[in-house]
Amino acid sequence: MKVQSWTPKIYAPLLLGHLGVLLFAGEDWILAGSYAFVLAMLALTVLLCWRRLRLSISHNTPLWGLLLGALLSQGVAFGLLLVDALHHPQGTLVAFDPTFWFCLGSFWLIAAAAYNPLTPMRRWTTAIDGALACAIVLLFYLMLHRLLTADHPQQAAARYVMWLFDGMALFVALFAVLRFIATRRADERRFHFVLATFACIELVIPAVHNRFILSSESWLPEWLLGWPFVVLGLLLSRRHTVWLGGYQPALRVRQAAASIAPLMLSLALCLLGFAQLGRDRPLAMGALILAVAAYGVRTTVLLGYHQAVEEQLRGLRRDLHHKSVRDELTGLLNRAGFRQVLRRAWQDAVRAKRAFAIAVIDVDNFKSFNDTYGHLAGDDCLSLLGHTLRTEAGKQPGVVAARYGGEEFVVLLSGLPAREAEAMMQRLRQHVEALQIRHINSAHGVVTISAGLAVMPAGTSLASEKLLRAADEVLFEAKRDGRNRIQCATTTTPAPTATA
Ligand code: GH3
Ligand code: MG
Ligand code: MG
Repeated sequence: MKVQSWTPKIYAPLLLGHLGVLLFAGEDWILAGSYAFVLAMLALTVLLCWRRLRLSISHNTPLWGLLLGALLSQGVAFGLLLVDALHHPQGTLVAFDPTFWFCLGSFWLIAAAAYNPLTPMRRWTTAIDGALACAIVLLFYLMLHRLLTADHPQQAAARYVMWLFDGMALFVALFAVLRFIATRRADERRFHFVLATFACIELVIPAVHNRFILSSESWLPEWLLGWPFVVLGLLLSRRHTVWLGGYQPALRVRQAAASIAPLMLSLALCLLGFAQLGRDRPLAMGALILAVAAYGVRTTVLLGYHQAVEEQLRGLRRDLHHKSVRDELTGLLNRAGFRQVLRRAWQDAVRAKRAFAIAVIDVDNFKSFNDTYGHLAGDDCLSLLGHTLRTEAGKQPGVVAARYGGEEFVVLLSGLPAREAEAMMQRLRQHVEALQIRHINSAHGVVTISAGLAVMPAGTSLASEKLLRAADEVLFEAKRDGRNRIQCATTTTPAPTATA
């Protein structure tokens, strides 16, 4: 039977057994028995966590490993408590050795909340976060150590320790919840949901337990100790975590949480540093400097990375724009590029009261060229024509050629009056004819072009769409009259409100 199916069923008998021990066991065994039951529940949860680790996607494995580390550290702490209970059946109010292992457990939990498997510059950020987590837990442990070795009465020391652990648990819970909100990827969200739930229960249950233990003679509050592991185990045994696992925070909330999360470690270290200012000044200053420096280095490293990415994106955007307005086959502007240039050139011409003309070019008998020589030869022909148009148009300022679609091209002639525009188009036609691309099914024996030309005289403003339509219409006349020719449209004086 699979581990996730039988383990959850054992929690109920263990909880009942635990309660039974607390109610009915003899004074000498009550505490040791209680810890033994907690350890048994913890062992089941460790099994389930190990299974999750084995099944996790590789980049998430460290996250489950850190949670497992936290459970094992707590396991050692409870083991030491059990040994202590065997020697002192009435219990030691504050046992010293287990606190180290509870602190170590907190370290793994903080590291799990901080670890971001897919963050950019992961090695840097992990090293910095790891160093901060170490510093926090070391300082915390040092504070505990001072408390426990100072001359406080046991009851007072226990109360201080309780407050310190409450503070640490609150920090871990806040951090874990923040990471759950900030995380976007579904598999990581599942982990952070489990971690946040466990951290919140580890905040509430020990706080309640410690207060009862300090104020009452009853052993019953010990029953609470196994519950965090039971809840965690039940969550781990589910294949898909439902409940809040499906909760999606608003984008702004997530972004805010993602920006605050990296600050949490430095903030916690600053708080601990401030708390130590009166007692150990060099240590406190060291902690404060480390908190600020680590955050500074982390931010600088990420800023450098983001600047490099931004530069790369800008380059990609330039390439994308270039591709979106260029025709791949001929290297000329495509229809979208032509529309952009047309709008600007037309507006400039109207504003400067310059003449403006549009020519629509169509390759003659191109279908039969394709049928005779094949489509690949047709493509080569179009590419050559595009190159010729680009080279020749480029020699005359204000003239731009574009591929309108298929075997049709357009030429914008800015600042050229009708006669010069027509002369320019004649030159283009002659250049194409001079290429001498063999075409046996053409009356001229070579590939030729025909064009319709429409001119907007200087000082007028005929809508560019009308010019384009007029040029297209006269193109048919050029075709009808035998091809390999330029036909000029007789344009009328336009309405003054015409637009591009
Ligand atoms: P006309 O002189 O009247 O313009 O005759 P035509 O054969 O050129 O006219 P038609 O519009 O019937 O044919 C255009 C041909 O252009 C049809 C199509 O196969 C070809 N064509 C359009 N785009 C491409 C292209 O990108 N590559 C190739 N090889 N052929 C193309
Ligand atoms: Mg055509
Ligand atoms: Mg044609």
